[in-house]
Amino acid sequence: MNLSEIKAKGSKSLFQNYGRMDLCFQRGEGAYLYDSEGKRYLDLVAGIAVNSIGHSHPKWVKAISAQAGKLCHVSNLYHIEEQALLGETLARLAPGDLSRSLFVNSGAEANEAALKLAVLHTGRTGVVSALDSFHGRTTASLGATGQEVYRRGFEPLMGDVYSYFPFGDEEALKKAMTRDTAALLLEPVQGESGVRLATESFFRCARDLCDDLGALLVMDEVQTGIGRTGEWFGSTHFNVVPDIMSLAKGLGGGFPIGAILSTDEISASLVPGTHGTTFGGSPLACASASAVLGIIEEEDLVGNSRRRGEELLTGLKAIEHPEIKELRGLGLMIGIEMESLAKPFQAHALEQGVLVNVCHGNVVRLVPPLTLGDEELDQFLNLFTDYLDAKL
Ligand code: PLP
Repeated sequence: MNLSEIKAKGSKSLFQNYGRMDLCFQRGEGAYLYDSEGKRYLDLVAGIAVNSIGHSHPKWVKAISAQAGKLCHVSNLYHIEEQALLGETLARLAPGDLSRSLFVNSGAEANEAALKLAVLHTGRTGVVSALDSFHGRTTASLGATGQEVYRRGFEPLMGDVYSYFPFGDEEALKKAMTRDTAALLLEPVQGESGVRLATESFFRCARDLCDDLGALLVMDEVQTGIGRTGEWFGSTHFNVVPDIMSLAKGLGGGFPIGAILSTDEISASLVPGTHGTTFGGSPLACASASAVLGIIEEEDLVGNSRRRGEELLTGLKAIEHPEIKELRGLGLMIGIEMESLAKPFQAHALEQGVLVNVCHGNVVRLVPPLTLGDEELDQFLNLFTDYLDAKL
């Protein structure tokens, strides 16, 4: 089918809840996607920080094909070998003593599970999160999302348990946290609001406050996790070990899987019957995630993310143009805040066969596959420089 036929069918058969671009991809390979007309695009979006190992990595395709031919789904009524193996790998990679995993299907579900665990473990209900945060679209994760624009029309969400404070503001955080707080939910780097960073001192303060008040620190690593920021987990940059960590996006490399990681002691609060999911941690999803982690380790993609991210930021800093308001980033999670041309640049890049994401108004967000190479990096930098030069 061509694009018009696909659009015509979708306009009748699908909910119209997404503002989709005029594009439909048919296949992907490495950092490239190919549309229905055969045009090639450099993919610096990676399904919004999902395709960590690029598209259709041969080892991953082999691993999931083999697993699909063996066993896809059984149910958590039974023991699942692939889950136990993935749990073991995550325990080895995770910071501190986050040695236990619970598998779910998405980022929102991971945060949902994290908040339920925090409520059960502490016996409290309060959730503190940052303004401009994004934690997902289910009721609890949406409640914790510090952006009114996403909550509008759905309130009240789970009663009056959420409070928000400006990200990075230690004094405001101290005021927001109380002895009713079950969880402080934070992204190590705010992704959806345009790659916003806070200081190590802020995260230290967050950790100390949780310890003093008996609340749990939940780090939402759905976007920052699995090498995205040039460390396995974004929290590592700020020297904090959370009590619970949520993961999704890059973990499955494109196959849906999410997880929460926690300690022996805290995880014990989810006794049988308190939480579960039919699909969570299926043999296929776990085999996919194990293949992703194996490839990331073998190819040192965490190191690649760190090095390429630094090169990209250095290249961007050298541009110096009045359109560039601020450059932010860690590893291959980069935000270019522009004065006004983010959307026009996105349209121009698209024409030139390069996909970038625009979020929070005027921020060009780059979250490419962690496999990004020199050539692809230069392609973007040349495109961006030429575009801005033409605007002088
Ligand atoms: N948490 C963060 C930090 C995210 O960036 C996202 C999605 O963008 C989510 C949670 C929600 O994940 P999902 O869309 O898989 O439910």
